[in-house]
Amino acid sequence: MLALVRSGEATSRAEIARRTSLARSTVGQQVNHLLTSGLVTEDEGGDTVRGRPPRVLRISPQAGVIAAADVDGTATHLAISDLTGKVLAREVTTIPVEAGPERALGDLTARIRALLDGHASDRPLRHVVVGLPAPITPDGCTVKAPITLRAATMSGWDGTPVATHLEQALSAPVTVDNDVNLMALGEAAHDAPGPLLFIKAGAGIGSGVVTAEGTVLRGADGAAGDINHLRIAHDSDVVCACGHTGCLGSVASYRAVLNDLDIPFPEDPLHGSRQLAELVASGDPTTLRRIRRAATHLGEAAALLIQFQNPRTLVLGGLLAQLNDDVLSGVRAAVYDRAAPLFTRKLTITTSTLGDQAGVLGGITLALDRTFDNDGLTRLLNDR
Ligand SMILES: [Zn+2]
Repeated sequence: MLALVRSGEATSRAEIARRTSLARSTVGQQVNHLLTSGLVTEDEGGDTVRGRPPRVLRISPQAGVIAAADVDGTATHLAISDLTGKVLAREVTTIPVEAGPERALGDLTARIRALLDGHASDRPLRHVVVGLPAPITPDGCTVKAPITLRAATMSGWDGTPVATHLEQALSAPVTVDNDVNLMALGEAAHDAPGPLLFIKAGAGIGSGVVTAEGTVLRGADGAAGDINHLRIAHDSDVVCACGHTGCLGSVASYRAVLNDLDIPFPEDPLHGSRQLAELVASGDPTTLRRIRRAATHLGEAAALLIQFQNPRTLVLGGLLAQLNDDVLSGVRAAVYDRAAPLFTRKLTITTSTLGDQAGVLGGITLALDRTFDNDGLTRLLNDR
């Protein structure tokens, strides 16, 4: 019943009875139970042709709050929302990811607590979702991986039980996910037609896949979509951190572009970004050529993935995609060149509409889904 009310599929007692084929009296009892629990409200609803307007059931904004964080070495985005998905507060902050999990998770806990205290101290915290730039195991640990599978800033995090740590610190259920998965989920939840493929080109290159049903593909080890080391540039002699040559991340990431232009990264990524933005704005030919080459490689990789997944939307995110329009047009050109027409006829290729908010908004979507899935509902109803 709560799922029907939440999705808006059935928002009155009569509709619920119709949809569930339960007796009106049974529905009445259950609805009264939900009203007493404070999870839903029942108010005068819209117009009707004759008689009393039907009373409309809605999830109560007072029933709880959720929190989401998209943690990144340069900027961490936080948001809290009520159980209807209405964002109550947002914040951009710096979390010292490179200082290791203890310090970083301590700071993250403090920032989330401060946001909750300031904007939702009267409501119970129902779920927290945290995105990290690394593959995450199904139980919320960073994987024990060689350096090549995660951002270099996370070198001290191998095997950290992040979800368990935060659950103890915040006294609420916590889901930890790969940051690009959350970005994909954010775009899919904000009107981008699915199935959806999100490719983030930043310090490295990662991708996230959301099915037509809205499910994220995570794989057996949480590493699905980790495409940084796909061999794309067969003529490249740039040696990747993994020891191979021609890896996608070593030729088409934002870091690779900076490296080739002798701009330091990641020692001072913001300074590097300013320097690169100035070169782009001044139309420096070497810079523009390098960016277009990165876009072509990115498009070649995208064409492979598109022919495997057959998405309706491809979204480009990360610092590289934000540089200039050449990136989007370069990716489009390579995809149309390499993928068969069947795959591109109805495909939309676009840059992220949510920009740097994609991850945290995807986090809110996931936190709401987890609050109202079977385990979440059991917790919600037993908590009263
Ligand atoms: Zn590699």
